[in-house]
Amino acid sequence: MQMPENVRALLLRLQESGYEAYAVGGCVRDSLMGTEPADWDICTSALPEETKACFDGFRVIETGLKHGTVTVLYGGEPFEITTFRHDGDYVNHRAPEQVSFVRSLREDLKRRDFTINAMAAGLDGGIRDPFGGQADLENGLIRCVGDADRRFQEDALRILRAMRFASRLGFQVEEETEAAMERNRKLLLEISGERIYKELSGILMGQNAPQVLERYREILRVVLPEIGPAIGFEQHSPYHDKDVWGHTADAVGKSIPDLEIRWTLLLHDLGKPETFTMDSRGVGHFYGHPQRSEELAGQIMNRLHVDKATARNVCTMVGKHEGSAPVDKKHVRRWLGKLGPDLLLKLLEVKRADALAHVDTPGSRARYRDILVFTDLTRQVIREENCFRVKDLAVNGRDLMARGVPAGPEVGRWLERLLQAVQDEQCANRREALLDWFETMRKGTLNAD
Ligand code: ATP
Ligand code: MG
Repeated sequence: MQMPENVRALLLRLQESGYEAYAVGGCVRDSLMGTEPADWDICTSALPEETKACFDGFRVIETGLKHGTVTVLYGGEPFEITTFRHDGDYVNHRAPEQVSFVRSLREDLKRRDFTINAMAAGLDGGIRDPFGGQADLENGLIRCVGDADRRFQEDALRILRAMRFASRLGFQVEEETEAAMERNRKLLLEISGERIYKELSGILMGQNAPQVLERYREILRVVLPEIGPAIGFEQHSPYHDKDVWGHTADAVGKSIPDLEIRWTLLLHDLGKPETFTMDSRGVGHFYGHPQRSEELAGQIMNRLHVDKATARNVCTMVGKHEGSAPVDKKHVRRWLGKLGPDLLLKLLEVKRADALAHVDTPGSRARYRDILVFTDLTRQVIREENCFRVKDLAVNGRDLMARGVPAGPEVGRWLERLLQAVQDEQCANRREALLDWFETMRKGTLNAD
């Protein structure tokens, strides 16, 4: 197996001091799959103090001394070096507070979650693989190291980790492991919102997100009880051939892998069951569902302690995912004014993915085409004008005050008028033009008085 020069140098240094040292975990899995690892973790028989002594003269950060981890800055890159360890008692189905150090690699690999994550690579290039990780990697299988029930009972987060790896790598979960995930799913109630959010985000970003969302609905329902009513909810609509949850999973898979877009798609229709009505022809409607979904999204984001900016963007997009505007520059500008360029383009991607997950009819095709044209027009307006909010104007309040507008609300009113003039193409967004327009209008206002 190929290793970067810095990693080889680190391993060599530890070995020359008489310790065992290996690259371990995700980096071995990723290299064997032919993808570039995000980072290279190292494990060693050296105790943390011994590791520090080996790297005397280097910058060493005591990242998690309690867990045996020190970070060494080597060649400008940070590397985590962790002593072979064995996890202590698990409390409340979460990762342990205490660990004990061991001197054997096998013991260290045994505490790791899945066989594909429990491999190490030495300087000699050989792979240490006591639990059949390579075979599982070849067969595309996620399998627990050891007894699956026990492993999930030790740390319930592993249930979501299995789903994350299945989604990201496009793997299946091995039968015994899968059955144990389902049996132990309630233990996820003990895991913190932050950690659940992180794993759910990983699941959503994976290539197999739709399959994982569909297959593990009952597990997801433990951490997101709000999806319960959507599961199996028939829509009685000519636009849909799936239940609300099936459509949701489908829509997630149609979008580009952007976190806010995928979270929006996950939550966009959760308000449907509560707003369902059926007309005299037996057709289902969901009037007002985006608003109800937005409330549920807010509740979920809150419970998972999602950062404020992400939560705000997701909720806004959930609330605005429906409806359509005439496809012209005036409406593009209006929407740019409401959301700004970044969020509007994301919302349009949400709408595109949602539209793709509808039954293919002439009506749905027309709607899809409109979204694409609106998106192109939005890009064009952004490129050409870049002026959708008062702060985008080539003049500011100080310029107006310097020309005699008294400080106070009148400044804001003039800026709004200037923005309107730019958007209505009466005036270009250039300083000189804006000030000329301002002077002319003010004279008009004065004369009118
Ligand atoms: P990623 O590319 O997503 O970072 P990774 O495999 O590196 O994947 P990490 O969460 O960074 O995953 O963890 C590093 C390694 O630590 C894993 O490969 C696994 O061996 C072990 N590990 C991490 N979390 C757990 C856990 N909850 N239970 C058991 N082992 C774990
Ligand atoms: Mg990692």
